[in-house]
Amino acid sequence: MENRVRVRFAPSPTGPLHIGGVRTALYNYLFAKKNNGDFLLRIEDTDQTRFVPGAEEYIIESFKWLGLKFDEGVSIGGQYGPYKQSERKAMYKDYAFELVEKGKAYFAFDTAEELAQKRAEAEAEKKTFQYDCNTRLGLRNSLSLSEEETRRLIESGEPFVIRFKFEKDGQIEFDDLIRGHISVNSSLLDDKVLYKSDGMPTYHLANIVDDHLMKISHVIRGEEWLPSCPLHVSLYKAFGWEAPVFAHLPLILKPDGKGKLSKRDGDRLGFPVFPLEWHDPKSGEISSGYRESGYLPQAVVNMLALLGWNDGTEQELFSLQELVDKFSIERISKHGAKFDMEKAKWFNHQYLQSVSDNELAQQYIKELNDRGYTPTLEFTEKVVSLVKERCSFAKDLWQTSDYFFLRPESYAEKALKKRWKEGTGSVLTDILSRLSEIEDNNEWGEKAEEFLMKYIPEHELNMGQIMNSIRLAIVGDTKGVNMVEIFKLLGKQESIQRIQTAIERINL
Ligand code: GLU
Repeated sequence: MENRVRVRFAPSPTGPLHIGGVRTALYNYLFAKKNNGDFLLRIEDTDQTRFVPGAEEYIIESFKWLGLKFDEGVSIGGQYGPYKQSERKAMYKDYAFELVEKGKAYFAFDTAEELAQKRAEAEAEKKTFQYDCNTRLGLRNSLSLSEEETRRLIESGEPFVIRFKFEKDGQIEFDDLIRGHISVNSSLLDDKVLYKSDGMPTYHLANIVDDHLMKISHVIRGEEWLPSCPLHVSLYKAFGWEAPVFAHLPLILKPDGKGKLSKRDGDRLGFPVFPLEWHDPKSGEISSGYRESGYLPQAVVNMLALLGWNDGTEQELFSLQELVDKFSIERISKHGAKFDMEKAKWFNHQYLQSVSDNELAQQYIKELNDRGYTPTLEFTEKVVSLVKERCSFAKDLWQTSDYFFLRPESYAEKALKKRWKEGTGSVLTDILSRLSEIEDNNEWGEKAEEFLMKYIPEHELNMGQIMNSIRLAIVGDTKGVNMVEIFKLLGKQESIQRIQTAIERINL
């Protein structure tokens, strides 16, 4: 079991989950499943100031909806739990102190005011203050103070943090599966806080302690964490632990490619950036979600998988299993992927076509009932089978098929002007009397069309004009499916009735 692939998605519950985070989780999932490994959910809630109620539940519900199952973690359990960092709080302290003992970290007593002062002084010289190998001896910490003074301060209850001690002029090297070899001079790095004065670890400490204890083999996460990686690699080394393999994913960009796709872009540009609708508990603000906007979870998964990855062919539609079979980190793009709303809709259109007519009809019939119509399931299913290909979302069903349930109240003006000429009424009156003679059985639709295809040329009439006038009379517009299908589904009585009404109304 030594080399078992184990990956984790480790969100902080600070709000709704951005689709960039969903994509990170998806790539972790695909990588784990491809390698018969484990996919974990760990909640990183050590920063209590950023905790947002409901965010953890939101994350769990999002993955349920998307159909991405965790093997271990919060809400599931497992042998490496607890999987929520606030519940692991007690164990981090020992690790932080262990590093101090090993000379890899130190106690720092600087107050917020003292540090602000240092920052202001640096700014006055147009410099940026950094707590590092060049400045730390001039600050209040266990490296600059005597051992006795340090002990005295700690014993007297003086608040302290523990900072990582980057060596002067060391070279930190590691390989990233996407970024390649990375090498950083340790003198440039900030001695980050590992353990805070409130007794909580920072993200950095908790993250690597947990990855180690949970036997994480690969860390696949957003590129925003790349700058922290030299610290993480150094922490593994300081503890004497083997570091996992890292892969930092490029960002999802705004549709115009200018910068990271942000929370605000979605509602500004009219597409969701969150899997589920989010009600902000503080501001009351509502952000739209893919689920509520009518997206199918499979479409969202497929769309996100292709935002930054492809299998090297032109194939775009992949089931989750196919994604698992084909996924490889090597084929993740090194560049940011532009979010494309039209593509997202296209994916949904494709997936909607594979939902059965029966399932869609059952859904649609509820909407129809709410609108005051009570068609049979059989009829609704037929309607769905005719218009489905014109819909990207189930919510498009109504506007593409309303005329099957609703007699036209008016007629599209522009089309009317173009199609309904002087004399159209009398031609239609003649046509109507002939249509009435066709036997009313299940062949009526075909017979009606057959008749029109003969009648129109025989009378030297314009095919487009007459057929469109009939469509206008029946549908109220020039939209709609094939006329035969409309005749068939509406039936003889209803079709004739609608043409009759139009002749009367339009010729008034
Ligand atoms: N808690 C971090 C986040 O919210 C996790 C980063 C990581 O995967 O290491 O993104």
